[in-house]
Amino acid sequence: MLSEAKKVWKKYYDEFSKAMRDKSFRTGTTRATESYEHKMKKLLVEYPETPELAKEVRKIKEEAVENIDELINKTMESFKRHGADVYYAKNAEEAREIIGKIIGTGKIVVKGKSITSEEIRLREYLIEKGNEVWETDLGEFIIQLLHDRPMHVVTPSLHVPREKVAEIFEKTFKRKFDPQDVPALVRAASEFLRDKYYNAHFGIIGANVIAAEEGAAILIHNEGNIRFVANIPDELIILAGIEKIVPDLEKAIKTAIVISRYASYKLAGYYEIIGGARYIQDNNGEKAYSKPRKIHLVLLDNGRKKMMNDPELREASYCLRCGACMYSCTVFKIIAGKFGGPTYMSGIGAIWTYVINGSLQAAPAIYTCLLDGRCRERCPLNIDIPRMIRVIRKRLAESQ
Ligand code: SF4
Repeated sequence: MLSEAKKVWKKYYDEFSKAMRDKSFRTGTTRATESYEHKMKKLLVEYPETPELAKEVRKIKEEAVENIDELINKTMESFKRHGADVYYAKNAEEAREIIGKIIGTGKIVVKGKSITSEEIRLREYLIEKGNEVWETDLGEFIIQLLHDRPMHVVTPSLHVPREKVAEIFEKTFKRKFDPQDVPALVRAASEFLRDKYYNAHFGIIGANVIAAEEGAAILIHNEGNIRFVANIPDELIILAGIEKIVPDLEKAIKTAIVISRYASYKLAGYYEIIGGARYIQDNNGEKAYSKPRKIHLVLLDNGRKKMMNDPELREASYCLRCGACMYSCTVFKIIAGKFGGPTYMSGIGAIWTYVINGSLQAAPAIYTCLLDGRCRERCPLNIDIPRMIRVIRKRLAESQ
């Protein structure tokens, strides 16, 4: 019988080696990383002020983490003021239960891309409870159809080349697709999802940033799907980790600009600022709501406060999830998110896995890191990932 640790290492090694030998996986990953490098080079020439803005955002994140308790309270008060129901979940189980109670069973749910929802295995949980749940981000939709997991925080299906997408769409939609005709692939997914939006009872989204003072969630997206998820169903659930909170809207917008730039967008397709449900009141005091009629905000801790209170690992909680470090990582370029933990990828993901899932799950990724520091150089906030990997290695060795 293999010990628990050996099982984790074997599973990691098997997946790692399979990805290395999988030509299609390597094609997708190489195309994505090369395209990112190309776009980023041009973007930093066109917007040379971006690194300076990133320095400012680093200070914003430091201030936010320093005052996290106060900002959590402020966020909850601000959202309540807009009429939202607010919840604080200490861990993944609590978050799932809260959302499960709100949604119940037998509902149609449409989701925006959210790595935090992957962290708590929300889609699987809601489906198990008897709901129909659809990912609406194209990359996440592909991942859902493949029963796979995201390989990158911004481009979850970067390891799936268009040839494989055509294959899975042929099975799903029962018709032929030309892999070179990308617009036809996109159209097929959009047409399928359109019907789901209009029949959905609930929308679920994450947040790229949250402004505490004003009580607003800021989301950056490129496909327009978040607009449908947030504005068509009657009720909207926003699930966000507490590390997404910054003091106010101005700081949130600066943070959002840095996230989108380092995700390689000059300007992302859409920026949403979502506060409370909106209504019009007539002379008799009757309220007519626009959609969504109700907003639920679920703030998730799940180890984040522990990370923020750990002087040696605090820096990891500043992470913006822009995904820039992953594209520049030597190991990621070969096996994408197979280098990482059950949810979070690459070096920064190894640190998050250590905090969220514990030493056992994190150890293989912690020891995969080459400590070459490319991630730190690319990171807009200059987060010192190799330093923290060394700290965790020392802790793992001392706990033996
Ligand atoms: S560690 Fe830095 S580069 Fe990597 S995702 Fe976080 S903010 Fe972006």
